[in-house]
Amino acid sequence: MKKVSAGIDIGGTNTVFGWVESNGHFLWRGGVKTTDFKDPKDLVKQVSRQLLDNLEENEAMGIGIGAPNGNYYNGTVEFAPNLDWPNYVPLKEYFNDYFDMPVIVTNDANATALGEMVYGSAKGVNNFIMVTLGTGLGSGIVTNGQVVYGHDAFAGELGHVIVEEGGRSCGCGRNGCLETYASATAISRTAKELTSKKYTSVQVFEAANNGEQWALEAFDFTARKLGLALANAAAITSPKIIYLFGGLALAGELLFKPTKLYMEENLLSIYKNKIQILPSSLDGADAAILGASALVWKEIS
Ligand SMILES: [Zn+2]
Repeated sequence: MKKVSAGIDIGGTNTVFGWVESNGHFLWRGGVKTTDFKDPKDLVKQVSRQLLDNLEENEAMGIGIGAPNGNYYNGTVEFAPNLDWPNYVPLKEYFNDYFDMPVIVTNDANATALGEMVYGSAKGVNNFIMVTLGTGLGSGIVTNGQVVYGHDAFAGELGHVIVEEGGRSCGCGRNGCLETYASATAISRTAKELTSKKYTSVQVFEAANNGEQWALEAFDFTARKLGLALANAAAITSPKIIYLFGGLALAGELLFKPTKLYMEENLLSIYKNKIQILPSSLDGADAAILGASALVWKEIS
């Protein structure tokens, strides 16, 4: 019999979940299509059944859930982008119908940060920022060993820090947010502006690797905005490490090197040459479940 926690990641298209030991080892994993369930209650029922059917002789310690706009304080999901759900979904309450144990909810970016802290290279690092560069830009901020949740549980949205007044239109309804300049989607947008042609982020990466000037420019522009925003973030929380994670972070040195350069250029001198920018140590495919399951270990430790 092993002690395990459930990690559940609810995404706009897929929901993935599994039973995970406190060392990050998976005992079982499963998945369903989020869009197959009109009522979130039915999704919870299906996920819970699968988890219970596959718990075997192990001891469940808790349920951790990463979901868009997941509220750590009250366990609800509020106005979730990309989910066709009611405005307030009491997710914790729904799961407690199946599991009489701690159920902890937060957004996916905070969960990823916790995954790095519990299982990854941020173990013992008390001050860091985890930046996920995917379709959008998500971030989890850890200070003094705790995720920053803020007054309403929605703190740490670096993706919606405005880096260009009156700049690109953002999905949040405003203009000039960082995620419109630094994300997989954003670099395609930059490439379009530079060439008038459509490229995916992977195509921009390949072209930059082949030394094509426009693609190198696209990376440089992305890094300039990201580096500036990270320098500003550093002034607020003074992190030891900034992790970059997600599809665009796979570009490696093409992104990391100029981002570090522009961050240093914009840093207040007291922070200069102190902050590392590193790739996440978590496996991209497992990170979402690991992060959610880490919520439980962090909570009960
Ligand atoms: Zn925005």
